[in-house]
Amino acid sequence: MSLAKLLNIIVDTYELSKDHFLGPENRIYYLYLLSSLLLALFVYIRKKNKKSFFSYLFDKRIWTSKSALNDYLIFSFNNLFKILFIGPYLIIGLYIAFYINEYLIIWLGFPKKSLSIGQTIFFYTIALTLINDFLSYIVHLALHKIPILWEFHKVHHSATTMNPITQYRIHPVELILNNARGIMGFGIVTGIFDYYSNHELDTVVFIGANIFTFLFMFFGANLRHSHVKLKYPSFLEYIFISPYQHQIHHSINKHHYDKNMGSKLAIWDFIFGTLILSKETSRIRFGVEGNQKDYSSFTNLIWLPFLKAFNLIKLLKKVRD
Ligand SMILES: [Zn+2]
Ligand SMILES: [Zn+2]
Repeated sequence: MSLAKLLNIIVDTYELSKDHFLGPENRIYYLYLLSSLLLALFVYIRKKNKKSFFSYLFDKRIWTSKSALNDYLIFSFNNLFKILFIGPYLIIGLYIAFYINEYLIIWLGFPKKSLSIGQTIFFYTIALTLINDFLSYIVHLALHKIPILWEFHKVHHSATTMNPITQYRIHPVELILNNARGIMGFGIVTGIFDYYSNHELDTVVFIGANIFTFLFMFFGANLRHSHVKLKYPSFLEYIFISPYQHQIHHSINKHHYDKNMGSKLAIWDFIFGTLILSKETSRIRFGVEGNQKDYSSFTNLIWLPFLKAFNLIKLLKKVRD
């Protein structure tokens, strides 16, 4: 690799890391961080904390812990990984949409009646949100229930302190799975709607599709990975996962394992019996049971899941023979 190419990759990684704070499609966009700050203030006032708001929110033990430092490292590493191995494949979503649209035309002929632009925006937005959220739940469930995948997902759960960057503390293998899931969901829904809207789907619709994501991010998505216990009224927690409900998902307590696996919506957890409401628990500790020490260095966080997954495959083979 030439020096110029290497330099380009470094600059791109830096730009991508910076863009996370500057693009409204990203969770840590500065405006969402700001709205999270206001929601945290609301929780702080209700809690009648003795500390100042600043020291409550920016607790040094949380933001500068070893666990947090690993979050920042994995965040940067994953951005480099994205530039090199994921970015070039995002276009596949459009190919899937194109082929689904073509297939529908061959199979059903041209639609006799097309959706209007308003209908397209409305239904496409809802369909994309529901399908993406459902696929997220299924992939998350698989990450918890399939032992080999759990070894990789454990990286996210091994955080012992949480801050908004912990969201990005995921193993590159999980990053690939999540992106593949996103590409599939986008491709399928876009292909179907492109067919029924007579190709009216353009960038305007793509922006429209983000309204739910925008609301989700604006109402405290950043507090999911934090020590701020933002709970929603119980009836709402059957529909939307509150930040505290996701914190329960990170709990080390056995009763909380494999619970609250939804991304934005709580309905999948409710349907499949994996939902816990905030009012059901008040004290939680974050992390994974047992070998927490294994996950205290960056190299271990990247390398160890491969080793453990390999050992699991070996063991499985032995049992079978
Ligand atoms: Zn999980
Ligand atoms: Zn999480």
